[in-house]
Amino acid sequence: MAPAPSGLPGFFLGRGAETMTKDWKTRTSLVHEGSRRSQYGEMAEAIFLTQGFVYPTAEAAEARFVKAGEDEFIYARYGNPTTRMFEERIAALEGTEDAFATASGMAAVSGALMSCLRAGDHVVSARALFGSCLYVLEEVLGRFGVRITFVDGADLDQWRSAVTPGTKAVFFESMSNPALELVDIRSVSEIAHKAGALVICDNVFATPIFSRAVEQGADVVVYSTTKHIDGQGRALGGVVCGTKDFVRKVLEPYMKHTGGSMSPFTAWMHLNGMATLDLRCRAMADTALAVAKALESHPSVSKVIYPGLPSHPQHALAMDQMGSGGTLVTFEVAGGKDAAFRVMNALEIAKISNNLGDAKTIATHPATTTHQRLPQDQKDALGITPGLIRLSLGLEDVGDLIADLHQALSVA
Ligand SMILES: *Cc1c(COP(=O)(O)O)cnc(C)c1O
Repeated sequence: MAPAPSGLPGFFLGRGAETMTKDWKTRTSLVHEGSRRSQYGEMAEAIFLTQGFVYPTAEAAEARFVKAGEDEFIYARYGNPTTRMFEERIAALEGTEDAFATASGMAAVSGALMSCLRAGDHVVSARALFGSCLYVLEEVLGRFGVRITFVDGADLDQWRSAVTPGTKAVFFESMSNPALELVDIRSVSEIAHKAGALVICDNVFATPIFSRAVEQGADVVVYSTTKHIDGQGRALGGVVCGTKDFVRKVLEPYMKHTGGSMSPFTAWMHLNGMATLDLRCRAMADTALAVAKALESHPSVSKVIYPGLPSHPQHALAMDQMGSGGTLVTFEVAGGKDAAFRVMNALEIAKISNNLGDAKTIATHPATTTHQRLPQDQKDALGITPGLIRLSLGLEDVGDLIADLHQALSVA
């Protein structure tokens, strides 16, 4: 074990910090990466529910405020050992130099954008966005004089004409909600980088397991960890992954002074969640594919959208970009809203809610809930029809889920 760099008694770098350079495969990293152990050598990651830290001397406090070392902390809004473990583990998974954990997915999205933009900057964004992301771009950034151009994320020609040499950043959700349309990360990153723009990718629907966003050109990858990373619908969280320069010099000063840091309790739950993240995402994606196939042949279903099906217009891109169709399936019930509601109300296993990436299968009716406030023309543009249901597949038995959908569809 390495000695504590600060010479502090009682806390030393654990296995994670020593093995950061080892070429571990994903599942090994997800269990061990970033672990730090106290003098007690606890097996499970410790939860440091502390807002502050004690300095052995006044001189040590002074030195820490001049420059805190890698394994030294000042205040939990700036950083915390449990949160740091989570940041190192997710950075190793995403393949970035560093990461900063935030209080929610929206703290991550707004922090990534607000920390690097100023009045007069130009941003190009895909139009199909999570409602709060749209609010941050249109309302908040707009109010502070940032110019935004919205494009159809799947149309590369629109990206080409919207991104100009002065463009500061591009933003997109790599897979849209609920239409499950992909943005071609490699091509959009090429267009952005030619103009000198930073590529910020909200990668929630792709999941960090199927993501290769950084390898494909994204500079900054953002997750709502509320979804697959927590995986059990308990905690709200987020994370921004990127270069050390971006995370520690651009993002961290903004986040630590504006107050959007992750709670150590959340980080501790996420560390536990990550140990099973690969297993869970792959099981959910296998189930999603089986459910999509079962729905595709059902007479009461007028449309199935799943990037893992050859019928999806971007199937080839999905396989190239993620190697999977992901963990969500969107389908349209023939008969509109009434039929969709009858199906949802008849489901016995899937719960009616609006989270995703949970161990429990969740059914959402976007037109009346998550996307209720969108004007009709925007609903039409995003393909949010009255009969549309979004399913986030969980960890239940796939046969049970398909039988449940069949019995629910029989009442539609
Ligand atoms: C859920 C979600 C967010 C926001 O995350 P919170 O944790 O709810 O703040 C942002 N982007 C996408 C794509 C999401 O699905």
